[in-house]
Amino acid sequence: MRSARVWAGLLGVEQAVVEGVEFDPVESVVVARVRVRKGVSRRCPYCRRRCPRYDVGVRRRWRALDLGAVRAVVEADAPRVSCP
Ligand SMILES: [Zn+2]
Repeated sequence: MRSARVWAGLLGVEQAVVEGVEFDPVESVVVARVRVRKGVSRRCPYCRRRCPRYDVGVRRRWRALDLGAVRAVVEADAPRVSCP
């Protein structure tokens, strides 16, 4: 989907897949729902090896590049892994 790639470039998350973008009127932010690509999922953030999942973690938001005067956040699941 071309617009997903445009959103990924605007938000600086080219390595992730943008599943949808919406405006959160409560917090007045643009929320981009993303997920990691299959090849990089369940990797240890330190040694980069694929590891078994420790838990599903929580859904988190990270501040992204603002879109003009509107704040933007990236929202994704943040599962933890069990690395030996
Ligand atoms: Zn590790």
